[in-house]
Amino acid sequence: MRASRFFIHTAKEAPAEAELVSHRLMLRAGFVRKAAAGIYSWLPCGWRVARKIAEIVREEMDAAGCAEIFMPAVQPAELWRESGRWSVYGAELLRFSDRHGREFCMGPTHEEIVSDILRAAVSGHRQLPVNLYQIQTKFRDEIRPRFGVMRSREFIMKDAYSFDICEKGMRESYETMRRAYCRIFDRVGLKYRMVAADSGAIGGDTSHEFVVLADSGEEEILYDKNGNYAANAEHVPCAANDNGGDGNSRPEPREEMKKIQTPGITTIAALHEFLGGKTPPARSIKTMIARGSNGACALLLAGDRSLNIAKAARQPEIGAGAELASAEEARELIGAGFGSLGPVNMQLPVVADYSLQKSADMVCGANEDGYHYVGVNFGRDCPMPRFADLRAAQSGDAVPGGEGKLSSCRGIEVGHIFQLGDKYSKAMNVCAEMPEGGARPVLMGCYGIGVTRIVAAAIEQAHDERGMIFPDAIAPFAAVVIPIAPKKSGEETRAAAEKTYGELRAAGIDVLLDDRELRPGVMFAEADLLGIPHRIVISPRGLQNNEAEYKHRAADSPENIPAKTAAETITKKIRSNLAAGAGGQISRACQTS
Ligand code: ATP
Ligand code: MG
Repeated sequence: MRASRFFIHTAKEAPAEAELVSHRLMLRAGFVRKAAAGIYSWLPCGWRVARKIAEIVREEMDAAGCAEIFMPAVQPAELWRESGRWSVYGAELLRFSDRHGREFCMGPTHEEIVSDILRAAVSGHRQLPVNLYQIQTKFRDEIRPRFGVMRSREFIMKDAYSFDICEKGMRESYETMRRAYCRIFDRVGLKYRMVAADSGAIGGDTSHEFVVLADSGEEEILYDKNGNYAANAEHVPCAANDNGGDGNSRPEPREEMKKIQTPGITTIAALHEFLGGKTPPARSIKTMIARGSNGACALLLAGDRSLNIAKAARQPEIGAGAELASAEEARELIGAGFGSLGPVNMQLPVVADYSLQKSADMVCGANEDGYHYVGVNFGRDCPMPRFADLRAAQSGDAVPGGEGKLSSCRGIEVGHIFQLGDKYSKAMNVCAEMPEGGARPVLMGCYGIGVTRIVAAAIEQAHDERGMIFPDAIAPFAAVVIPIAPKKSGEETRAAAEKTYGELRAAGIDVLLDDRELRPGVMFAEADLLGIPHRIVISPRGLQNNEAEYKHRAADSPENIPAKTAAETITKKIRSNLAAGAGGQISRACQTS
């Protein structure tokens, strides 16, 4: 591609609202243009990156035995009513009516449509297994679209759906996808981890996330340094009797319960200071009110721990759709504000986190503004609560089911694989005649990859003050040839650059020739901003010594290489980089789950 005929529009500054580096750089580099909140046009440089990612995904899906299809973005409400999701999906589902008043939605995912395809086409076990995939636009009316294409409303996803007749088959399809995903992320050239995305409650290993490691990521991963455990922090269980104390028993009460005046004290930290630093977190009770489909409940945690709302939803007292009550609701229910709540004389059911299981002589709010109790003991001053796993796991907690402590890192979820079982096939009557006779619902798996999110994730993972740094496989161009050719005397330089450019193209390298004859500094800055990994500069001075200047985007300084064989040298480098990514070696990140 010649830069003079290409569409490169870069800017010095990004709009102030762009918070994340990747968002700022994508806007500055002219990768995307916002059409509305969370809705973007992809411009040539950005689209090249997205396309290269999509192509790697497509190749690996095909290699794994999946068949590509293309389903509609607009989906009829009837199918969603059949699956039962029309009423439960909520506001992320964008619904509308056509001119006849028929209801539709923009597809946020395609289980319903693909199930409908399958039930029409498949009747017997001999037609299975199959795995159908597409690379297509999804729409989710995200409550807070942000960070550009990282969390947009319209985005491109690869979604695949497997259909099997038995559990074993479903697990094999899942395993095939897991391996294909590892190859995809290896080839794309990202540092990532595959992590358990559920607590393993339903038979274990039913869902995994692929997370690109980046400090700015929204996901927290907790992992065991020995490589035996890694999971999304949201899904990490905390064991009973793990609040840092020793032994399994609660110490005997030593203090009498006393009500004390604590004017204006509503935080654990302020209370700690007010009491002269004498109440360690395990003896300060944090009380929250949560409510769900089954009712409202008071939840108690050690003062330094935070609630995992998904764990709250698992308590029978609360149930699905668990949410924290607002300050006003808490006041209405209990008669005191946040920071003054506690288990003594609590009217609501009470569940306490394991972090308080071994605590005695505690401090808590008195359910009266401006007052706390000290010397509180469960079973004496208030009923013994039921203990459960409520808290968000964090680094330093025990490795579930293992030894040692968890470490923490952050990342961006770019892929997600699930074993769905018969959830959709049962609801939508996707059945097949089984080998032993009789028809049964088939078993499904679904597998997503956020193609456009990967573009942003790759930039978050590798960039510097000058711009993006792309792996060879997904860079907008793998290489750029920049001639520094004075208008009058630059003929020879231009010719040498053309020759190198032609040779690289002939070798199948995706190369940009910057023939715009701009100031060298401008051309260098743009190549750096766009993250083009390999840069070859051809100048009259270099040619005098038969040399070209080569620099890798991530290197500190350039080096001179023979000009005649520059194309060959760069081709070798790129081929070996691509082969390293595509080496077919399942990376370590993938082996540990
Ligand atoms: P998240 O927790 O980030 O909302 P999700 O669990 O809703 O993700 P899935 O339904 O599993 O996501 O979708 C599969 C993939 O699609 C995700 O792994 C992610 O890469 C991508 N994706 C999901 N939502 C968005 C979005 N709003 N913008 C861009 N990509 C997205
Ligand atoms: Mg989501």
